[in-house]
Amino acid sequence: MTKALKIVVVAALILSVAAIVRLKQRDKQMEAVQSLTTPPTAAEPAASGLPRLVDLGADKCIPCKMMAPVLEELKEQYKGKLDVVFLDVWKNPNVSAQYGIQVIPTQIFYDAAGKELFRHEGFFSKEDILAKWKELGVDLSASGSSAATFERLTPAKADERPKESICYMCDGDIDARTLVTVQTDKGPVRLCSPHCYFIMHSCLTEDKTEFERKVTVTDWPTGKPVPILEAVFLCGEDETTGRPWIKVFAGRDAALAERSAAGGSVLNLESLAQKEMSHRCGFCDRACYPQDAAEVIVEGGVHTWGCCSHCALGVAARTGKDIEVREKDRLTKQPVVVKTFEGRVASLEPATAVAWFGQRQKPDGTWASAGCFHQGFFTSVDNLKRWVEQNPLETGRLISISQALADKMKLTPAQIQKACKIGECVPK
Ligand SMILES: [Zn+2]
Ligand SMILES: [Zn+2]
Repeated sequence: MTKALKIVVVAALILSVAAIVRLKQRDKQMEAVQSLTTPPTAAEPAASGLPRLVDLGADKCIPCKMMAPVLEELKEQYKGKLDVVFLDVWKNPNVSAQYGIQVIPTQIFYDAAGKELFRHEGFFSKEDILAKWKELGVDLSASGSSAATFERLTPAKADERPKESICYMCDGDIDARTLVTVQTDKGPVRLCSPHCYFIMHSCLTEDKTEFERKVTVTDWPTGKPVPILEAVFLCGEDETTGRPWIKVFAGRDAALAERSAAGGSVLNLESLAQKEMSHRCGFCDRACYPQDAAEVIVEGGVHTWGCCSHCALGVAARTGKDIEVREKDRLTKQPVVVKTFEGRVASLEPATAVAWFGQRQKPDGTWASAGCFHQGFFTSVDNLKRWVEQNPLETGRLISISQALADKMKLTPAQIQKACKIGECVPK
């Protein structure tokens, strides 16, 4: 035998052995398919007579975990239009053979008659899944599901407050005893409180040298304006919420007198500013109180804040890292926890959580973000709707948390640099 022939014979032997092994595996798989009673086989029509999406994955594989909130959202929003089924291939080892899959996660699309239309391997976003159904001739967007399309584009009632009584920063009511006024080229800007003043100051992009000369605050006992550079501040914390409060005085004696009644610490402008700036939004840099903010844990353990829920997601875009966001439902204060993986939502607790994207129509007719004070997360669509009902001036629309994150991930570094800075997102 020549050397070349020997090689050919050995190779043929190896191939036939491999083929036998593969066949034996297939026999085993066939047995597995036959012995399986549940779940339904791939060719079986969906019991509900609906188009069906089957996701095969496992609870410990990362891209599979990322599919979980996507499936929950689809299940919730296309109830009665689409059957969404998750099968765990590690807990039910026969399933992968039954469906003939090589990779998890795999998503299989069936029509209402149970015919397979398409399959996809790896993470598949909600937007991509919906686009695929459309491409396959199954239009789910016309589902009429109020959950997917809830919006309010005109306020439920007119804002009848005079302009001078609305805080420039938060749109809240101005209390005459805590008013702060900043003189600008365009006239005086009125703010509800020293905190809103520091928020504004923290995100101004102009040269801030001697900025304080333009600012007056209000003497708590008399209601008279005082230059901020001459004021003394009494700062304390709310007993229940721990949220800071600030009272301003024209003189130190009055501040000390109030301290003996109300508690707190007397501070000068410099130390108050330091305290106010000690917590900043990890996305837009503005000053915030932890009590009002979303907590953000960046991969590697760094903790920061999101001054609003959408800014919190923006930390993933700004840092390019995976994050965990711990936010509170704006209506009930129940926790909402979002974990991201490579710029997408990997897990969402509770899975029914959604976001409100507060928007306002600008004079030219286009829509822009209504600013950080008008955004929020909710544990359910119902909570969001109730909150919108309780806040008749809010306008905007419901979006999925995946979409809110995707919107942030699309931003360029230059846009992130300017994010939420005064004038960028608060059309007035
Ligand atoms: Zn305010
Ligand atoms: Zn922010």
